Amino acid sequence: MAFFSKNQQEPVPEVETKVWSCSNKECSGWMRDGLTFDTTPECPLCKSPMESEIRILPELQ
Ligand SMILES: [Zn+2]
Repeated sequence: MAFFSKNQQEPVPEVETKVWSCSNKECSGWMRDGLTFDTTPECPLCKSPMESEIRILPELQ
């Protein structure tokens, strides 16, 4: 039987999360889809248009 400290934090569950990912293959910019955009957002790093995609990310607490 494994022993776990009561103070040990439980691992954060990972969930499918909608994100915006930069369409520029040379750029690694992306952001969570937490805001409402009227149009496709532009990358804050290189100003390229961003594409919607699903990533597995730790759930926001
Ligand atoms: Zn970019």
